[in-house]
Amino acid sequence: MADKLTPSQRHRCMSRIRGKDTRPEVLVRRGLHARGFRFRLQDRKLPGKPDITLPRWGVAIMVNGCFWHGHKGCRYATKPQTNPEFWEAKIARNRHRDEVTEAHLEALGWTVITVWECELKGKETAEARLEALADEIRQAGERRKQSESQRRISRLNAKREREQLLARQARLEEELKRRFPIPRKIKNESKSE
Ligand SMILES: [Zn+2]
Repeated sequence: MADKLTPSQRHRCMSRIRGKDTRPEVLVRRGLHARGFRFRLQDRKLPGKPDITLPRWGVAIMVNGCFWHGHKGCRYATKPQTNPEFWEAKIARNRHRDEVTEAHLEALGWTVITVWECELKGKETAEARLEALADEIRQAGERRKQSESQRRISRLNAKREREQLLARQARLEEELKRRFPIPRKIKNESKSE
């Protein structure tokens, strides 16, 4: 894909996307706040310091600039014409890092949602994306709740099963004792062993 931006536009685009409080991030935060969600920003305790986390829902949100994170098939992810190999390598590295972070977070039980910069272009597009994001968060929370109660149920079942086995064993022991009383002599010998 050819570079549609002039060098100065490109520069502005990159420096803006590099910063912490990028416009897309601010939009997502505002959108979440307006919908009553509580969240944390760049939690250092989590792999890759995800942009936004919602602990209550078990959701981590990555707000990605299309150029820096190499959004596939996106018109904002055009490769600069100068030094294309350099940019390609740099963006490939970013993508790889994103994948590693995502896998790591998922392994820790987080649902990872990526919001792309281009999904927030224009008021209507942005509103639709934020609305969909809110749904995705609630669904992820719902799934987590279900799997938690599933785990609780299987823990309870395992406990009940163990108790039943122990009770059955005790009954068998009782029955054995009753039917085949051990002579006192043998009992005493086996005790002193
Ligand atoms: Zn994009």
